[in-house]
Amino acid sequence: MSDKTILIVEDEQAIADSIAFALGKEGFAPHHVTLGEQALAAARDQAPALVILDVGLPDISGLDVCRRLRQFSDVPVIFLTARSDEIDRIVGLEIGADDYVTKPFSPRELVARVRVILRRAGPAPTAAPATVANPRTPGFELRAAEARILFAGQLLELTRYEYLLLKTLLEHPGHVLSRAQLMDRVWRDAPDTLDRTVDAHVKSLRAKLRGVDGSADPIQTHRGMGYSLQPGA
Ligand code: CA
Repeated sequence: MSDKTILIVEDEQAIADSIAFALGKEGFAPHHVTLGEQALAAARDQAPALVILDVGLPDISGLDVCRRLRQFSDVPVIFLTARSDEIDRIVGLEIGADDYVTKPFSPRELVARVRVILRRAGPAPTAAPATVANPRTPGFELRAAEARILFAGQLLELTRYEYLLLKTLLEHPGHVLSRAQLMDRVWRDAPDTLDRTVDAHVKSLRAKLRGVDGSADPIQTHRGMGYSLQPGA
């Protein structure tokens, strides 16, 4: 795998150019294609470190590209989307997206997210990680510097928003946080977030925690109020 090649799949030339420029300036090697089929071929041939994938492509939908990509690759994917109903499909379907940004977006912010995801996907740093094992949240280890969370000793494979959501709950053990508070803290860069986006992420987080410990259900639902992390639940 090339650790610098970023595949950009976008049919709007001006958008692709601005992303490629921002990536190039930060030392990445952007490779641009405009069609879904080209993207799948390029992902096979070039094994990029990350894929930036537009949902609305002329030939096949970016969501279908991601599904097919997942049959042969775990490469991180950031979706570009113009519509909030597409966001629901990205987070609601388990198609393995790592993140999404809504058009219009800042290419610099996108590149910052690329860095975060690559850091998370890359090998663990050799320096001793700053691990925070909070006695009020037994079982969890928050490694904020690496943007990682461990549960029962296992590294959780989290998307950006799942990570931020769980981090927020861990930082307020026992506190009930309303959907509005969670949207405010976790989705501050995505102002059109919907209540059901929060719910969808809580659902996927619970599934991942159960994947580590089948009897664990530390995230509690408070009907009409919100969610909390209950220590030892
Ligand atoms: Ca498009």
